[in-house]
Amino acid sequence: MRLYALAFGAHPDDVEMSCGGTLSMIHKHGKKFGIVDFTRGEMGTRGNASIRADEAEEAAKILGADVRRNLEIPDSDIELSRPNLLKVVQVIREFQPEIVFAPYRKERHPDHVRAHQLVSQALFYSGLIKLKTGSLAPYRPRRGFYYMQHRQFNPTLYVDISGEYETKVAAIKAHKSQFFNPESKEPETVLSTPEFMEYLLGRMRYFGRMAGVKYAEPFWTEEPITVTDFNGVL
Ligand SMILES: [Zn+2]
Repeated sequence: MRLYALAFGAHPDDVEMSCGGTLSMIHKHGKKFGIVDFTRGEMGTRGNASIRADEAEEAAKILGADVRRNLEIPDSDIELSRPNLLKVVQVIREFQPEIVFAPYRKERHPDHVRAHQLVSQALFYSGLIKLKTGSLAPYRPRRGFYYMQHRQFNPTLYVDISGEYETKVAAIKAHKSQFFNPESKEPETVLSTPEFMEYLLGRMRYFGRMAGVKYAEPFWTEEPITVTDFNGVL
């Protein structure tokens, strides 16, 4: 299956929080997208690999993902290794996405940084003819878009997600073990406080204000964005 967009996240729920609105919009425009999680998030304080897999499945359905894949790399141990790089190259070649989403290069969680490095390298190496990955043909996506998690950056692109706000929030909340749940007996984490959801919503609103719309998701690109016409440019 060929996809228009492929979104990589280190842990199940990273993509939902960072570019869930953009993915939902892509789906509503009739284009196919997939989510690739590097790990099962088994090192997280709350939940476990199996609970998180079910939640990830549910969130993918809410966003309208055509596929959700897990690279099954151990959580907290995403090594910058050749085998891990080839896993990313393989999945890019399999789905041939035009555009790719991944974490920004500077992050608090080292897994996010390494996921960024592996994806940004794979965006190049996936096009090398002499780099063999079974029967998959070489393929290089058009562009990588890097999303915001903990660390801030000056965005080079804002996506208006005003129409996707509710879907995005529902997809985040599908990760029941991770976010605020008054009935949970598990230890509290930063993510599980009610304030964390307020922060996420406030940030979407803030970037919306910066972009001149209600809610927006910010992205950073290596190269400048070029348009061929001004339709849709706000
Ligand atoms: Zn994460």
